Amino acid sequence: MEDFLKIRSKKIFLNLTEKYAQLVGVKFNKITIRKQETRWGSCSQNGNISYNVKLMCAPMEIIEYVILHEVMHLRHFNHSTAFWENIKMIMPDYKKRMDYLKQFGHNFII
Ligand SMILES: [Zn+2]
Repeated sequence: MEDFLKIRSKKIFLNLTEKYAQLVGVKFNKITIRKQETRWGSCSQNGNISYNVKLMCAPMEIIEYVILHEVMHLRHFNHSTAFWENIKMIMPDYKKRMDYLKQFGHNFII
């Protein structure tokens, strides 16, 4: 089940990562889908992004928020004010999506 989800989710995550990388104006290297306990995604300085397979339990707008968040780290490798301002420019309701993750994220069980 988990492998099946990883393969299916990779296509969705890849398409959306390409979309948001274009919007933000950055290039990424590759994405991986992993099962992680505490993080929704991570991003390394060499442009590799990983996403938590558990996000497949989340509504699409929540998935998009996590993807935009990680893609934005390719521009700002921190959580500076500029980072959040840039997120807000592309996704004005990002806070609502963040709150959703905080509130319901622990219910995503695979
Ligand atoms: Zn972050």
